[in-house]
Order: sequence, then structure tokens, then C-alpha cells
Amino acid sequence: MSHDPNCLFCKIAAGDIPSTRVHEDDEFVAFKDIHPAAETHVLVIPRKHIATLSDCSESDAPLLGKMMILVARLAKQLGVAYTGGETGFRTVINTGPGGGQEVYHLHAHLIAGPRPWQRMG
Ligand code: AMP
Ligand code: ZN
Repeated sequence: MSHDPNCLFCKIAAGDIPSTRVHEDDEFVAFKDIHPAAETHVLVIPRKHIATLSDCSESDAPLLGKMMILVARLAKQLGVAYTGGETGFRTVINTGPGGGQEVYHLHAHLIAGPRPWQRMG
């Protein structure tokens, strides 16, 4: 299923639920997390509905690759890329209840900023 009408992030991708977008293109949308764990906390999602990382297979490799490159690009754009010294950011993909996943549409968290960070999950 490329779009799940009951999925929160499909609705955000479609613009049916508001979000603070920091990026959008044909394949991905990135927006600010509503409960940020740090000064910078962005979620990167594919427009295609994929519930979890465990649902991905070889055919999703290009999408997953592009998603990671986009995370790195956005980190640069948001001024939190690793450029030496103490700089850098965290990328997290929670998968299933065991991984603390709450929204079942694949997403990568991009988190950065001064410590302390809020606990996630
Ligand atoms: P996860 O636990 O990895 O599934 O993360 C889901 C994330 O989605 C959490 O960090 C939530 O704060 C965030 N979230 C839930 N609803 C919204 C929303 N409407 N807009 C932005 N972020 C949201
Ligand atoms: Zn979805």
C-alpha cells in the first residue's frame, strides 16, 4: 500500500494534517517533531507508506539510501552536520514495540543540539 488512509504520517505527507516542514520533494517529507527531544528534532519520512524498517526488503534499498543521504543533507542545512570538534547529530529509526516505535510509518529521527536531551520512548 503506498498510502494508508488511517496513517498519521501519510496524512502529514499529504498535507491533511499540519506540520512544520523543513523539506519536501517527490519521495520524502521532513518536518519538526511535535515533542522535540532536543533543540533540533526532525522526522524524515518517505511519502510511500512502509510501516517499519522490518517491512523493508532489497527493493527498498534505493529509497533507504536516499533517505539517509537526505538526513545528512538536512543536518547540513539545519547547521548540525559533523564538521569536526564536538559537532554532529544522531539518527534513530525505532522499529516495532521492542524498539519504541509509536507511529507505524517508517521515519528517521534527526536529533541534535546542546545536552541534555529529553528521553525518547
Ligand atoms: P517513534 O516513537 O519513533 O514512532 O516516533 C514517533 C514520533 O512522532 C515521536 O517523536 C512523536 O513526538 C512524533 N509525532 C507524533 N505525532 C506527531 C505530529 N502530529 N507531528 C509531528 N511529530 C509527531
Ligand atoms: Zn503511512
